[in-house]
Amino acid sequence: MADKDQTCSSASTCGRESCEGCPSKSGGTQSFRVEQNAYSNIKHVIGVVSGKGGVGKSLVTASLANALAASGANVGILDADVTGPSIPKMYGLTGPAGALDENSILPEITSNGIKVMSLNLIMPDPEQAVIWRGPIIAGVVKQFWTDVVWGELDYLLVDMPPGTGDVPLTVFQSLPVDGVFIVTSPQDLVRMIVAKAVNMAKMMDIPVLGVIENYSYLTCPDCGRKIEVFGKSRIGEIAKEFGVALAGQIPIDPAYSEKSDAGLFAEVDNVSIAPALDLLRGI
Ligand code: ADP
Repeated sequence: MADKDQTCSSASTCGRESCEGCPSKSGGTQSFRVEQNAYSNIKHVIGVVSGKGGVGKSLVTASLANALAASGANVGILDADVTGPSIPKMYGLTGPAGALDENSILPEITSNGIKVMSLNLIMPDPEQAVIWRGPIIAGVVKQFWTDVVWGELDYLLVDMPPGTGDVPLTVFQSLPVDGVFIVTSPQDLVRMIVAKAVNMAKMMDIPVLGVIENYSYLTCPDCGRKIEVFGKSRIGEIAKEFGVALAGQIPIDPAYSEKSDAGLFAEVDNVSIAPALDLLRGI
């Protein structure tokens, strides 16, 4: 039996009845967890992370959401990317989000049935710059978990801001994240970016489900040949080096940005993320 006076490294092995006064409290992830609200029953929380902006993290999040919704799952997207909250625009959602009562926010719903919450759905003017400090923004993102009426969800996909700032830390510490996908582009720093993301996930005790490469190639419209615009991809060997699955390689396709810009992303069926879907079904 566990010694009740010892400090713990994991809640599952600790014998203490409360975390209060435990020296491990500040270093662990368990003590910061916040409960779902009474209006939500979320089975799986999946993070989508990247090392820098513009690599296609939102595209991957929305592609996964579309595919899961098309397969009959109940899906939500928590847009935590306060640096560029693009999810509402991709689906033509404008807000402002409604409320059930003074503590409960209603998500907006896309034309293909995905529930969405984003900073851009609660700001009076989505183009206004958000000049809040990190901890305040992190608090708002946490409220998207505690105060949004998500209902029954099979998957809640969290579109994270790039990097390892306050918001990803808060999400990893506060939400029961089942795993993350790392999104990269085929450029020089990929190895370092994957290493950082893998290390952060390891420190937070969260499994990396796989790495997804965006902008992998362009298919020539005339001859159908695959052109590796950013040079030869090394993602296969990097994934192997870090022991994570290669969960998709997405081509450059102008249709993706056209649909995003027109608010019609619900119409996109991105078959390149099929390996990621298989991984999700396995969790
Ligand atoms: P991030 O979330 O990483 O900042 P986004 O998903 O918002 O990046 O993508 C940045 C821009 O690039 C968007 O306008 C998006 O439509 C476009 N884009 C992303 N991936 C592709 C792709 N594979 N083909 C064409 N356009 C893309």
